[in-house]
Amino acid sequence: MISAREALDLLRDGNRRFVADRKRDARVGATRRNELTERQEPFAIVLGCSDSRVPAEIVFDQGLGDLFVIRVAGNIVAPSQIGSVEFAAEQFHTRLVVVLGHSGCGAIEATIDQLKRPVEKQSRNLRAIVDRVRPSVEPLLATALRHDPQALARDAVRANVRASASHLRHGSELLEQLIAAEGLLVVGAEYSLETGVVEFFEGLPAEA
Ligand SMILES: [Zn+2]
Repeated sequence: MISAREALDLLRDGNRRFVADRKRDARVGATRRNELTERQEPFAIVLGCSDSRVPAEIVFDQGLGDLFVIRVAGNIVAPSQIGSVEFAAEQFHTRLVVVLGHSGCGAIEATIDQLKRPVEKQSRNLRAIVDRVRPSVEPLLATALRHDPQALARDAVRANVRASASHLRHGSELLEQLIAAEGLLVVGAEYSLETGVVEFFEGLPAEA
């Protein structure tokens, strides 16, 4: 079993390779595929945004069987996301969960727009996403950030990552127990569309 810290190091190393444009032979060929037909042992769970520019396997330079990835617009946490994380943590003993937000996130921007100028015709389904992001954004709109759209969007992305990570830590008895007794770690990170760098900024253990 790969510990949360070891998993974090693997992701950091992979992102460095991605940023430096020196991707390793990414373990996506037939040999690797054949190794995985009977079992899998992903070393990290990633809850990321659906944005086409932020595929977890690519930005962390990982291959088949390495990451258990859940993608949903705005990297929000609803019951099905919690269930997916529980499944992987329990079945595969994966000990690291990364909530991965990113700069320029359309779901965050849509939520800011909706709060500033409510649209009547927004679909119910899209609204279900905006409603999950809203509690992170609303308090920021009550500060001076409302006059600075770029800073507002940046802080909103991070607030939303923190909210999702907190929700995973406290929204499931199973995950709480794995955190307390089995070394499960939930961390928050942000991917930069501009630089390709993933910055881990929340929930890190001391000196990690
Ligand atoms: Zn996004």
